Amino acid sequence: MSVEITNDHLIAGDDVNHVACSKNVKLFSEPGLPDTIVIHFTAGSSAQSSADFLARNDVQASAHIVIGRDASVYQLVPFNIVAWHAGVSSYGNRNGINNYSIGIELDNAGGLTKSGNTYISSFGKTYPENETVFATHRNETEPKYWHAYTEEQLAKCRDICIALISFYKIKLIVGHEEIAPGRKTDPGPAFPLDKLRNDLLLDIRKDAEALPLYGKVTASKLNIRVNPGPDELMSAQPLAQNTVVKILESRDGWYKVRTETEGWVKSDFVQQINQ
Ligand SMILES: [Zn+2]
Repeated sequence: MSVEITNDHLIAGDDVNHVACSKNVKLFSEPGLPDTIVIHFTAGSSAQSSADFLARNDVQASAHIVIGRDASVYQLVPFNIVAWHAGVSSYGNRNGINNYSIGIELDNAGGLTKSGNTYISSFGKTYPENETVFATHRNETEPKYWHAYTEEQLAKCRDICIALISFYKIKLIVGHEEIAPGRKTDPGPAFPLDKLRNDLLLDIRKDAEALPLYGKVTASKLNIRVNPGPDELMSAQPLAQNTVVKILESRDGWYKVRTETEGWVKSDFVQQINQ
């Protein structure tokens, strides 16, 4: 079901739980903001308890919304007000990502430790194996157990992102783990972050499909950006050497390319190939 956003910057509908969170009052500072969505897990035991905790005046954290495992939605902060979900964070040449972004929390226990046939969260709650995912985090090298998200919850998150992208000028969807690596691991490998942003933010161009041109990355790592220019925001992790990309557009020494993600790269570091 599609999600609607009101002119009061709230998710419309009787089924949304509005939770008073009076500590957040600062408006985003520029008309083009927010332009980013940050995805989180709560590492809590229920959406209600996480929403209540984040709304407390004595807690130095908050988020715009919390999505429950049954797809219930709690809104704490209107989308035009800065919330405190990102903490110390940076992305591209930006610091303090709270000032640019909407924070979406999903009710999820995070990393789990296997003990016999059960899986234990950091706060002591146990989960059955069918609620776990064994996967390697993008910032780590070894796989471990993570609490699975529910299908209803992921579908609701996607619907909310679609609504936010059309209501605001959203250019980026990032994980907390990408803007505060080392400090944060959410939303973790159980969340389909790359699929979500590729599905929702890729502009599929029919004319580019008609004339496919491919290239191969020659640099050891190649930054990929939202717009052509060295100071533009990164749209994803840097592309690895030999990555094959589809070239969609060329402008002033930059190629717009598509691989698992899409963005602008310096054309000097892409060798055209026949494929
Ligand atoms: Zn987080």
